[in-house]
Amino acid sequence: MTKRKTQPPAEKKGLLSVLPLGSVGQDILRIVADSLQGILRIPVDLLEAEPLPPHTFMEARNQYNAMAIIRFLSENHSHNSFKTLGITGKDLCNPILTYVFGEAYMNGPSAVMSYHRLHQGQTEDPVSREQFLDRVVKVALHEIGHTFNLPHCHTGRCVMRASNNLKELDDKLNYLCDYCELFLFESLKKALDVHRNA
Ligand SMILES: [Zn+2]
Ligand SMILES: [Zn+2]
Repeated sequence: MTKRKTQPPAEKKGLLSVLPLGSVGQDILRIVADSLQGILRIPVDLLEAEPLPPHTFMEARNQYNAMAIIRFLSENHSHNSFKTLGITGKDLCNPILTYVFGEAYMNGPSAVMSYHRLHQGQTEDPVSREQFLDRVVKVALHEIGHTFNLPHCHTGRCVMRASNNLKELDDKLNYLCDYCELFLFESLKKALDVHRNA
């Protein structure tokens, strides 16, 4: 082991961070971080878990307000990461939908996703761990796509298709169509330029 003689230059903030909100399985965090890193080709930081902000709990619905969570993440995490994806096992909703798999700011600093409903199979039995994790990755990629300004897509089985239920989620593939990929890399390039000059 050699000791560094000089301190490394001050770390710039990360580009993309994955933040567990509450206790989240390591396999979930790992596959999300690895997949985003592989598809976006940028480094992904895995942050220490923190509790869901209590004010985002909607008692009357027994769910957490996804909009309030992304607002919280934008206010509290954008100083150390360019984009932050929160992951929770709790059920999410927003004021107009009974539940959401995830929510993101278009071209914004934060997104949140929940895997609460992603275990559910067609029968009483949950889906396989493999299928569950596949769904998790699709939701993560979709929401992060929105933070890079990707709108909903209607091409084939592109992951940026809107999915309001598990069937629609299962119908999509864990991939970006050519158009979305091009759009994403343009947006990523712009973001990297801003990031480098920050
Ligand atoms: Zn969407
Ligand atoms: Zn697409």
